[in-house]
Amino acid sequence: MRMSMLLAPTLREVPAEAEIASHKLMLRAGLMRKAAAGIYTYLPLGYRTLQKIEAIIREEMNAADGQEVLLPILQPAELWHESNRWDDYGEEMFKLKDRNGRQFCLGPTHEEIITALVRTEIRSYRQLPLLLYQIQNKYRDEIRPRFGIMRGREFIMKDLYSFDRDAQGLDKNYWKMYHAYERVFARCGLKTRPVEADPGAIGGNMTHEFMALAEAGEAEIVYCSHCDYAANVEKAQSVISSGKKTGVLEGLAKVSTPNIRTVEELGEFLGRPASDMIKTMLYHNSDMVVAALVRGDHAVNDIKLARAVGVMELELADQATIEEVTGAPMGFAGPVGLKGCRIIADPTVMEMENAISGGNAVDVHMTGVNPGRDFKPDLVIDIRTAQPGDSCPCGQGTLIGARGIEVGQVFKLGTKYSQALGATFLDEAGEENLLIMGCYGIGVTRTMAAVVEQCHDDDGIIWPMSLAPYHVIVVPINYRDESQKAVVDALYEDLTMAGIEVVLDDRNERPGVKFKDADLIGFPIRITVGPRTLENKEAEVRLRSTGEEYVIPLSEVVTNAKERIRRAIEAELPDSRRGR
Ligand code: ATP
Ligand code: MG
Repeated sequence: MRMSMLLAPTLREVPAEAEIASHKLMLRAGLMRKAAAGIYTYLPLGYRTLQKIEAIIREEMNAADGQEVLLPILQPAELWHESNRWDDYGEEMFKLKDRNGRQFCLGPTHEEIITALVRTEIRSYRQLPLLLYQIQNKYRDEIRPRFGIMRGREFIMKDLYSFDRDAQGLDKNYWKMYHAYERVFARCGLKTRPVEADPGAIGGNMTHEFMALAEAGEAEIVYCSHCDYAANVEKAQSVISSGKKTGVLEGLAKVSTPNIRTVEELGEFLGRPASDMIKTMLYHNSDMVVAALVRGDHAVNDIKLARAVGVMELELADQATIEEVTGAPMGFAGPVGLKGCRIIADPTVMEMENAISGGNAVDVHMTGVNPGRDFKPDLVIDIRTAQPGDSCPCGQGTLIGARGIEVGQVFKLGTKYSQALGATFLDEAGEENLLIMGCYGIGVTRTMAAVVEQCHDDDGIIWPMSLAPYHVIVVPINYRDESQKAVVDALYEDLTMAGIEVVLDDRNERPGVKFKDADLIGFPIRITVGPRTLENKEAEVRLRSTGEEYVIPLSEVVTNAKERIRRAIEAELPDSRRGR
């Protein structure tokens, strides 16, 4: 491709709308343009990289026995009523009507459609297992579309669905996909870490998210310094050593604490550390009010809390609810004598002695609070947010905190959708059984953004060879010089003939401008031809990833580039697939 023909509108200025590096660079390098909030057009360079990501995904899904299909984006409401998700999905779903008033949505995900397909096409255990996948657009009316294509409202996803006859089959497919995902991301040059995540209220199911480690990531994760344990903080468990017990229990007493509401204020007032206090947080939904108890130096994990009481979501109680339940305004709730709500305590609270808590009255706190003696929780269960520095459940290591971009997720669904939509198969005995399902998503467009987030410097993108829109850029110092033109035209021709993806910068621009664009767009190999190198029939090669530069004879440029590309792509292949 000649640069003069390529639509690659690079920008010198950083676009005002962009906050994080990947968003800025993808706009500046001319990979994409915004059409509306969370909706983007992919320009030629961006689309080439996307297609490369898709090709890698296809290869790995096919190698794992996946079969590609294409499901409709426009989906009838009826199927979503069957699964009860038409309303449950909420505002994130784009809904619309046809000319006859029939309701549809733009698919935010495809469990309903695929389960409906399989329920009519699969009859017998002989047709199992079955793995179907597609790569196409998804639509989600995100509350906060942001960071460019990182969180879009229209985005490309690869979604695979597995259908098995039993739990062992599902387990096998789950781990097969897990390992396929490791290969996909490694081949994309992305450093990811699979983390345990919260499976939602379905319960008992297993899920891992694949996190691309990056400061700009929206997810908080922790991982162990010693073992393989890694989890999203929404799910993470940790161990903390409890204080030594004295066995000397003080009596319960009320203390007057005028205008003192927070743990910090109380600690200062009473001269005691936050770890001596019982923090009582009230949460509610339309059906219940829950008091969550954690130590004063800990935080309540609202997802763990919701799971503990068996609901999808709980939110912090409002002022009115707090007053109704505790008889006092916010800041004075405590477990002693608390009625009208379920009390859920973290195990660390039950180990406390002579603690301090709210007194359920204005300006009153309690001292000498002893869990078990002075109050009995309805449930004692882990509801604490794990923190970096806590001990890992393995007992050997310490948890380290990091931020990640969720680029993929694997999920054991079980029978949630086959049950709701009646998708069954007949076993050897002619008995009807529910299909056991798994679902496995990769954010294709988000993966592209995550790669840019991990692979860039101040000058621009540093594409891994496997994803670079073109591998090589040939830069003549002066294309109007006849002798340079003749040499680079021939070089361009030879590189093209050798099957190398190459751009010739034939623009009438200063060399500095061409070099800046080459760095910004991130071509892995730059080949420069100028008067000095021409004298010796040589060209200068520069590698974007390391900045390494060397001069080689013109006659060796093609083989050198070809070898470099082959080796770089091979290095990104995980061991098991090298040389295949
Ligand atoms: P998130 O928690 O980031 O909103 P999710 O868990 O809702 O994502 P899934 O339903 O698991 O997303 O979708 C599978 C994959 O699709 C995600 O792992 C992510 O890579 C990608 N994805 C999800 N939502 C978006 C979005 N709005 N824009 C771009 N990619 C997305
Ligand atoms: Mg997810």
